[in-house]
Amino acid sequence: MKKRQNFLPYALPSLSERELTLVTDTLKSLWWSRGARCEEFETRFREFVNAEYAVSVNSCTSALHLALACCDVGAEDEVITSPMTFCSTANVIVHQGATPVFCDIDSETGLIDADKIEELITPKTKVILPVHYGGQSCDLDKINAIGKRYNLKVVDDAAHATAAKYKGKMIGSLCDATAFSFYATKNLATGEGGMLTTNNATIYEKARILSLHGMDKNAFNRYQAGGTHEYDITYAGYKYNMSDLSAALGVAQIEQIEYIQNTRRKYADIYRNCIDKIEGISCLKQEDYCENAWHLFVITLDPAKISIDRNTFIEKLTAYNIGTSVHFKPVHTFTFYQEHFTAVHLPKAEDFYQNIISLPLYPSMTEEDVYYVMESVQAIAARYAK
Ligand SMILES: *Cc1c(COP(=O)(O)O)cnc(C)c1O
Repeated sequence: MKKRQNFLPYALPSLSERELTLVTDTLKSLWWSRGARCEEFETRFREFVNAEYAVSVNSCTSALHLALACCDVGAEDEVITSPMTFCSTANVIVHQGATPVFCDIDSETGLIDADKIEELITPKTKVILPVHYGGQSCDLDKINAIGKRYNLKVVDDAAHATAAKYKGKMIGSLCDATAFSFYATKNLATGEGGMLTTNNATIYEKARILSLHGMDKNAFNRYQAGGTHEYDITYAGYKYNMSDLSAALGVAQIEQIEYIQNTRRKYADIYRNCIDKIEGISCLKQEDYCENAWHLFVITLDPAKISIDRNTFIEKLTAYNIGTSVHFKPVHTFTFYQEHFTAVHLPKAEDFYQNIISLPLYPSMTEEDVYYVMESVQAIAARYAK
């Protein structure tokens, strides 16, 4: 098959005139830090996900950290999470002085195996932190029921799950707190950014204060007419707030979220139909209860059927001018986690990692690009069929 001329990047954000207009307006307003745009973005986002409260922050990592702080996670505590995630999900547990306890995954979905959580609970367990891997939601009824039974909080990492649904309900208000990412490659992108959503007023109020140095409510309006220079510090908080410039991008993106998600879903459907017919390659299993946000499109190679390893497969795709990625190297296998915590062997996560590739999936690629990726995958798989 003919190789394309230009490189197809693994991921790109969507840019329309609307982002340019709102960012320019915000620049010209000369209010560049947290202000009206952040409030507008918070309102629109929490309405979108049906949550009572939202705190805009500078990353999902910050949102996760705030969520754990608001659940009073501290030294001596344990947090159960998935190894199939970005490192920051576990790093924030360490930031609170607590111990991450990794639970193995379901190899068909890449999601935390909810049936293995209970056996990891000890008197030190404080929070369960599931990850909606790839944009497919975890089995939240099961996980929340465990949380309730053992009096644990559940915080979900929804970095991939903006617009995902669980049993018809939007991800964002189904656990004690939810953390979203608006990093440049995520479904809704503000460059850097994140959001903490919750229905719990206590978590909300504490997260709001912790997100801006621990300053009390007065501080948020201190540069506005009628604001006061006086404020109190009620916690040693963090500098995690979003800026109005990022929020301008967020507002523009949430206005277009339906188009963004429809396009992702359409491309994912094309991928799934094509991959069904390719020997030796499969897609992740889709659970009935879930409406996938399609942040990632992950394929898995079956070593029993094709004689090419994952890394060589990636090299061949690069030779076809296609960008790819791997999500994720299991967090428990990184040096820091090996050196500082009791070594664990999680066979399913470790095997899963050996055979996965994330393909390009974003609205600014064309349908032609999607078919080109499929023809390339097909050509490589056919060449190495056993
Ligand atoms: C991207 C990502 C994060 C971190 O998001 P940031 O906004 O970059 O902090 C956390 N968890 C998962 C699963 C991610 O993919």
